[in-house]
Amino acid sequence: MSGLTHFIKSMTLWELLKGMRLTGRYLFVRKITIQYPEEKTPISNRFRGLHALRRYQNGEERCIACKLCEAVCPALAITIDSEEREDGTRRTTRYDIDLFKCIFCGFCEEACPVDSIVETQIYEYHFENRGEQIMTKEKLLAIGDKYEEQIAAARTADARYR
Ligand code: SF4
Ligand code: SF4
Repeated sequence: MSGLTHFIKSMTLWELLKGMRLTGRYLFVRKITIQYPEEKTPISNRFRGLHALRRYQNGEERCIACKLCEAVCPALAITIDSEEREDGTRRTTRYDIDLFKCIFCGFCEEACPVDSIVETQIYEYHFENRGEQIMTKEKLLAIGDKYEEQIAAARTADARYR
């Protein structure tokens, strides 16, 4: 840029005018920002958020400890121990998901033959202490119990697209 051009642009506040023109262009168009967390954008039924373990309506755990989810998990985030119960059925004694390893690919819920492990639409969570990222069986079941209605509704809607 020549010295003269630079001088003229400086004197006429050219850069400032350019900026104000851009601001003016967006002043009256429809706003696309929202006031989170009071306002939230819609999320897809297929959104993969925090995991949950589901129960049947009679309270029995759905999980049969087949370990397919553990085997299919590409991040090796799932750890399962199991035992046979007195009635001959198999259930987990430990079901951990390490959320620091999880990549939320959804393979675990795709692999589950009994619709037990699912990913909810919950995305607002945080950890404050070391080790809290391990989602234990108890935590996963509690999430499943609390959000069963939402989980069931999302899966019904999702089935329409399969
Ligand atoms: S969502 Fe993917 S990475 Fe996360 S636990 Fe399931 S299979 Fe593993
Ligand atoms: S959550 Fe499903 S896939 Fe995983 S062990 Fe239980 S029944 Fe098998």
